[in-house]
Amino acid sequence: MAPATDTIAALATPAGSSALAVIRVSGPDSRRLAQGIFDALLSPRVARHGNYRDRNGLLLDDVVWTFFAGPATSTGEDALELSCHGNPFIAQKILEDLWVRGCRPAEPGEFTRRAFLNGRMDLSQAEAVMDLIRARSDRALAAARRLLEGGLSRHLQPLTEGLTALLARIEAQIDFPEEDLPAQDRAALRSQLESVRRGAERLLATLPYGELLRDGIKTAIVGEPNAGKSSLLNRLVGRERAIVSPEPGTTRDFIEERIVVGPHGLRLIDTAGLNPAPGTIEQLGIDKTLERIAEADLLLVVLDATRPAPALPAALSGRMGAKNTIVVLNKADLLQGPPVPAVPPTLPFVRVSALTGEGLSDLTDFLAQRADDLDPAEGDGIAINARHAEALGRARACLDEAGRKLESSAPLELLASDLRGALAALGEISGKIDHERVLDRLFAEFCIGK
Ligand code: GDP
Repeated sequence: MAPATDTIAALATPAGSSALAVIRVSGPDSRRLAQGIFDALLSPRVARHGNYRDRNGLLLDDVVWTFFAGPATSTGEDALELSCHGNPFIAQKILEDLWVRGCRPAEPGEFTRRAFLNGRMDLSQAEAVMDLIRARSDRALAAARRLLEGGLSRHLQPLTEGLTALLARIEAQIDFPEEDLPAQDRAALRSQLESVRRGAERLLATLPYGELLRDGIKTAIVGEPNAGKSSLLNRLVGRERAIVSPEPGTTRDFIEERIVVGPHGLRLIDTAGLNPAPGTIEQLGIDKTLERIAEADLLLVVLDATRPAPALPAALSGRMGAKNTIVVLNKADLLQGPPVPAVPPTLPFVRVSALTGEGLSDLTDFLAQRADDLDPAEGDGIAINARHAEALGRARACLDEAGRKLESSAPLELLASDLRGALAALGEISGKIDHERVLDRLFAEFCIGK
């Protein structure tokens, strides 16, 4: 791939007032720009303080600037970083001046895209950059770091090497079409194929964990109306207010909040009350609640501790198990004696008062335990994402097909073509296979300046 000829610039910090704002510049003009703006000799990687004057000599701000000489930079190109005062107006003025000087605005993710195109990282590492920025729990951060350090590529390498060796053996045999494959070769091919397939399978099995890490553990708060579900959500969120971020774009009949429990990120979903005798509109809410229950990783079943337990819908009680459910006996502050609702002996329960906060720490301890149980914590914790899964699924299908052809003694050319298909699919994960469409889709999800 030819190196980029243009120089891009963007604000790398969020728009808004802050102590500092960072502007990134990357591309062949970075050196000329740094010299032109600051009229100084460049010492790469040395932060300098200087006045930023626009092309007309007007002082825009005093800034700290650092020049980085490619290719040993994050993008693989010459780059310039400027820290100005964190006023979006100042940052905008500087950016406008950079446009006049010949830079163009960076597309979302374009810095990381250039890092990938210049061989500074593979595609799974580029994705890890995004995971790292979005991680909201210790586990998510650790997984993003593992990916960034090339963990997935390390798992893929033996698979692609195995496939390449397999392909080489088959191609060698293709040159002798009149000879049938000897039985021991056939057995060796079968076992190699099986071992690559198992490797792909093992990685595919980490997808649910990847979703838990990236999206948070889906925790549905369910129960009859007025059991105190919303109060409980507020309590749990209030405890962790500093790390709460409202979920944009979700339908508003369900309130969703993120909390952190121990090293885990949870998505708390407050659902519509399961009224045993609902009206028509209410029934719609209940139907949606049942969908949420089906998708949930964890269930917090909230019961009013002062009243007998309601009859729960079969769709809920059928999903409730010791590993994914905590029964919350709420309104403990109103109890004179033991809680009224009967809880199945297999289910863990905790007495709380969403009103006073009593029992809340027991509940969060329970939640952390349940979240631990969902965390496989085995191997080195590599967790793939949906894009990886899609490519691995295609690779697996090709391997299955190759296996069938091997059994039915189909022509070796056809078998080789399946193996090439599997290799191509695996290559998409690291980006070794050039695929403009994959790149466009992937980097469009990044923020500008990254
Ligand atoms: P939801 O319909 O299940 O979401 O229940 P809400 O959270 O709206 O609570 C219903 C009512 O119960 C409200 O009046 C709350 O103030 C009250 N409530 C909730 N939790 C408690 C609690 O722990 N103790 C007491 N005494 N009242 C509570």
